[in-house]
Amino acid sequence: MQIELLRRTDELRAALLSSVSHDLRTPLSSIKAAASSLLQQDVKWDEESQRSFALAIEKEADRLNRLVGNLLDMSRIEGGALKPEKEWYPVDELIHDVLGHMQPLLQGRPVMTNLPEDLPPVELDYLQMDQVLTNLIENAVRYTPPGSPIELSARLDGEQMVISVADRGPGIPAKDRERIFDKFYRVLGTHNKSARITGSGLGLAVSKGLVEAHGGHIWVENREGGGAVFSFTLPVGKAEDIDI
Ligand code: ADP
Repeated sequence: MQIELLRRTDELRAALLSSVSHDLRTPLSSIKAAASSLLQQDVKWDEESQRSFALAIEKEADRLNRLVGNLLDMSRIEGGALKPEKEWYPVDELIHDVLGHMQPLLQGRPVMTNLPEDLPPVELDYLQMDQVLTNLIENAVRYTPPGSPIELSARLDGEQMVISVADRGPGIPAKDRERIFDKFYRVLGTHNKSARITGSGLGLAVSKGLVEAHGGHIWVENREGGGAVFSFTLPVGKAEDIDI
């Protein structure tokens, strides 16, 4: 039993290393290439080119940061050491904050928000929920055609806040809809270009772990007219619990 457990832990480590090292190298190579170009002494880059190199560095450094965040969270989830540090927070503010710091990635994307004015605050770990939304929005950018819209919404459903990220990409085949939340699972199919996009299959597994640690759940549906909608719930505490 103990040996079996150790073997599985080793397998997990090996799988993690092989899938993640490729994923980490890609943004690192892009950063290195852009920085080397900027530093090239024999070329005088015009302002626009300089800016595009700097933007590439910013974008890839953000991605690296998200990957490392997911890795750390995954090891905390697996080790049972993930404890949300919850505080009352307005969901619309959280969504706007996340959209703000994802600007470099969202260039050229129409982003719509549907956030009713009277949403109550929710007790949540700000950094963890930022990570969940960031993962979902990053996927909505990576797996959909350039320029296609992304919609974010929040609504109250009884005792639950439901937050959704909807896109107009290929959607998720029915047979994969549960499994994409497993770690390392990626959709491989001809209709979906994800096979060609690097990734480690960690983002959704981490998102699931974080949402469940908050007492919520996460799922995906396909949209009428094409695309995927990823939604998750967060329990809304009672108003009298709010500690002001
Ligand atoms: P990664 O993006 O690193 O592969 P994720 O856990 O974030 O890992 O996603 C798992 C898989 O789910 C992706 O590889 C992709 O096949 C699929 N996927 C995730 N989000 C979307 C989306 N918005 N549209 C289509 N496919 C998606």
